Amino acid sequence: MEALLERIERPAALADDQGRVLAANGAFCRRSGLDLAVLRQRSLQELCAADVAPLLQGAVATLSSDLVGSPAADGALPLSLSRLPATAAGVGDPPGPEPAWCLLELLDQRLTLADLDALVTTRYGDGAVLMHLQVLQLDLVRGRLGIAACEALIEEIAHRLEAALPADGYFCRQGGDRLLALLPGAMGIDAVRDRAGKLLASLESPTTVLEHVIEPSLNVGISRAPDDGSEFSVLLDAATRALEETHRQPFPSCCIAAPVERSVQLQELLARPLALAIEQEQLELAYQPIIELETGRVIAAEVLCRWDDAVLGRQSPADFIDVAEATAQISSLGRWVMERAFEALHRWDVAGLQLGKIGVNVSPLQVQDPTWSSDLLMALERHQLTPERIVLELTEGSILEMSNPVANQLRDLRRQGFELAMDDFGTGYSGLQRLTELPFSEVKIDRSLISAIDYDQLQQAMLGAVIRLSDATGITVVVEGVERSRQRQMLLSLGCRHGQGYQLSAPLSDLDLEALLQSQISPAA
Ligand code: C2E
Ligand code: MG
Ligand code: MG
Repeated sequence: MEALLERIERPAALADDQGRVLAANGAFCRRSGLDLAVLRQRSLQELCAADVAPLLQGAVATLSSDLVGSPAADGALPLSLSRLPATAAGVGDPPGPEPAWCLLELLDQRLTLADLDALVTTRYGDGAVLMHLQVLQLDLVRGRLGIAACEALIEEIAHRLEAALPADGYFCRQGGDRLLALLPGAMGIDAVRDRAGKLLASLESPTTVLEHVIEPSLNVGISRAPDDGSEFSVLLDAATRALEETHRQPFPSCCIAAPVERSVQLQELLARPLALAIEQEQLELAYQPIIELETGRVIAAEVLCRWDDAVLGRQSPADFIDVAEATAQISSLGRWVMERAFEALHRWDVAGLQLGKIGVNVSPLQVQDPTWSSDLLMALERHQLTPERIVLELTEGSILEMSNPVANQLRDLRRQGFELAMDDFGTGYSGLQRLTELPFSEVKIDRSLISAIDYDQLQQAMLGAVIRLSDATGITVVVEGVERSRQRQMLLSLGCRHGQGYQLSAPLSDLDLEALLQSQISPAA
């Protein structure tokens, strides 16, 4: 047992069930200023401040060094509790069902938030649950019965908490009426609710504190890793928010942090840097050629926005376009894309390069902006282009949610000669009849519909049907995500004429597209 105590770096002592010191490690002796021979003649009660001595009665397994030291500045006795490693608990147990002694670990410090932070990152990488507990009667008890009663109550709850936690769970007092408990392992919402219910039931049974019967009640706010975050500080924020949520409830209760949606996290992270990037024109454009499958000629290019932030690194358009839409920046982003793309197309026209059309992705939120269509027309005029050169790409999903005024505006633009493409066809829940709701001139088949086109007969049959319908209605089909030459061959044999994808060409910088277009005019160059 002494050897075990010496392995504990912090002050630790072993006492019998009367609180008499049986053994202590060097750190304990140094801390108490007494040598072991003297300590053995003392009881822990004597070593502690008088008003907390009763708390030690029956204490099991945990104790704070603060109990031995002086009260904290605010008058409260900071009580920190720590669980000894499960393996240590049984070592040296005397015979019999109940140990005749208790092992006390005296902490130099509380189990700090930094300790919990380290636990989350080093030990609980696979997931954890953080419970932020608030003992509701503490102020009342402090006011009526004094600090000692207050501390006795919280210590009793701490003991119950300790008994209820798994061996590799940890807890600490966060201060005042708050305790934090950390449980290892990822848990679903239902499992957490169940666990919290059982925990609260075990913490809330009546207890006697300085001869007063108190029925503790607690609120608990809970967060979960990795769903609510993987860093302790983020988990603590989420659990604290959930705890605040319990204050809105009429009864003591348990709230589990609403999962922070990834889109909300992204918004918080990207909104400001994106605004800056748009304002300072730090975005870039890539152009992905759309190829005539038969000849390999570039007939058009889709304009794709790129953002490589100096601090955050390269961001996926799927993410930052979502953020731009959610933070009303999509109009300014779209305007910038349009301006730069039209400028490039005009430049290539002047250079005699033959790029028939360019496709620009359009968010329905842009179309809702009352100035969007006039801006579009003015930009077109500024760069001496005609509407037939521009393909406005709208995703299938966005069309499903489109309001009537937006749809009317798109019809109007189509009448003026703009091409209209249904993008990512096959990702929404719409059928082919959707193609008739707006005057589409083009349908871009999502890559998921052709991912196995070279060997999957169902995909072949489906694409065949779309191609037949499109041919019958005069709608151009462009297939997205062509990654293998076998796909290209099958597409050709199904009657598909235009494609886009890594096998045909990755998205290119304007200079690289220029070179490609140049090589089409003068192949020898
Ligand atoms: P999208 O309009 O469907 O664009 C095609 C996406 O497929 C691009 O992704 C392109 O890089 C990718 N892609 C092309 N060929 C292949 C292939 O063979 N295999 C695979 N796996 N992917 C391929 P990207 O650039 O990440 O853009 C994602 C989406 O972001 C675009 O999908 C578009 O909806 C949106 N987006 C991009 N730029 C803009 C923009 O300026 N405005 C708006 N509103 N949306 C944009
Ligand atoms: Mg597109
Ligand atoms: Mg697409």
